[in-house]
Amino acid sequence: MEILVCVKRVPDTAENEIGVNRDGTDIDRDDLVYSVNEWDNYAVEEAIQIRDKVGGNVTVVSIGEDDAEEVVRREMAMGADNGLLLSDGAFKGSDGRGLATILKAAVEKGKYDLILTGAQADDGAGQVGGMLAAMLDWPYASLVNLVEILDDKKIKVGREIAGGNQEMNEIDLPCVLSIQTGINEPRYVGIRGIRKVASVEIPVKGAADLGVAADAVGQGGAKVNRLDYFVPELGEGAEMLEGSTEEIIEKLVEILKAKGGIK
Ligand SMILES: Cc1cc2nc3c(=O)[nH]c(=O)nc-3n(C[C@H](O)[C@H](O)[C@H](O)COP(=O)(O)OP(=O)(O)OC[C@H]3O[C@@H](n4cnc5c(N)ncnc54)[C@H](O)[C@@H]3O)c2cc1C
Repeated sequence: MEILVCVKRVPDTAENEIGVNRDGTDIDRDDLVYSVNEWDNYAVEEAIQIRDKVGGNVTVVSIGEDDAEEVVRREMAMGADNGLLLSDGAFKGSDGRGLATILKAAVEKGKYDLILTGAQADDGAGQVGGMLAAMLDWPYASLVNLVEILDDKKIKVGREIAGGNQEMNEIDLPCVLSIQTGINEPRYVGIRGIRKVASVEIPVKGAADLGVAADAVGQGGAKVNRLDYFVPELGEGAEMLEGSTEEIIEKLVEILKAKGGIK
C-alpha cells in the first residue's frame, strides 16, 4: 500500500510561551521551538504500522519553507520511507484551501492508495484533510481512531463520535483519513534513526513542478483572510493566577477548597 502522510511544522506548545505579535497579524514567532504537529505524528505511526503489516511505502510530505524539511526528516527517522518538501514563495500565506490545492497536485504526481492527515494542526482549522478529499473526489473519514486493512480495495475505520461513543465504517480506497490522537502510541525516535536519514536527499517541489497556478494559492489566492489575532478580554469572574508554578498550584488548591471542589 502506498501511503502519503501530510505533516506540518508547528510551534511546540510544550516548549514555548505563545503570544500575539505587536501588530496582531500572527503569533510572535521570535525564538520559537518547532516540532511536528502532534496529530501528524500519530498519522505517521499509523502509516508505518499499516506498511509493516501489508507492505508498501510511507511518504511524508510537508508544505513550508526550508525549515519544514526538519519535520520531514524527523518522521523519516521514525520509519517513513520517503520524504517530500513542497516549498515555493507563492505558497506563503495560503489558507486551508490553498494548502489542499498544493497537496492535491502532489498526490496527482504520485500513485497513492491512502492519504493520512492529522485531525487538526496548530491553527485548529481541521479543514485541510476534508478539502483535499473533496478536491480529489475521494472518500473521507475524519477523527479516525482505528484503521483495519480489509483488502486492497477497502478498509475499516473507527471514528470517535459524541459522548465517547464509537462508529465503525467501511471505506473504499483510495481515500483520505484525518487521524485523531490516541489511535496508537507513536514510537520514540532514536539517535540511530536520526543518523540513518541525516544525509538523505529530500526532493523539493515548487508551484511550477506541481503545475499549481501561483495565483490560486498563497496570500493572493486565499478566500479566507485572517483579520486579527488577539487575546480575548477577561470575562467577568475569570481570575488569572500568577506567580511560579508552585505558587499557582497553591492558590488553585486554596480556591478549589474554598469552593468545595476538593476537601
Ligand atoms: C503567516 C501566516 C499567515 C496565514 N494567513 C492565513 C490566511 O490569510 N487565511 C487563512 O485561512 N489561514 C492563514 N494562515 C493559516 C494557515 O494557512 C493554516 O495553516 C491553514 O488554514 C490550515 O489550518 P491548520 O493549520 O489549522 O490545519 P488543519 O486543517 O487543522 O490541519 C489538518 C492537517 O492538514 C495537514 N496540514 C496542514 N498544514 C499543512 C502543511 N503546511 N503541510 C502539510 N500538511 C499540512 C496536516 O496533516 C494537519 O494535521 C496563515 C498562517 C501563517 C503562519
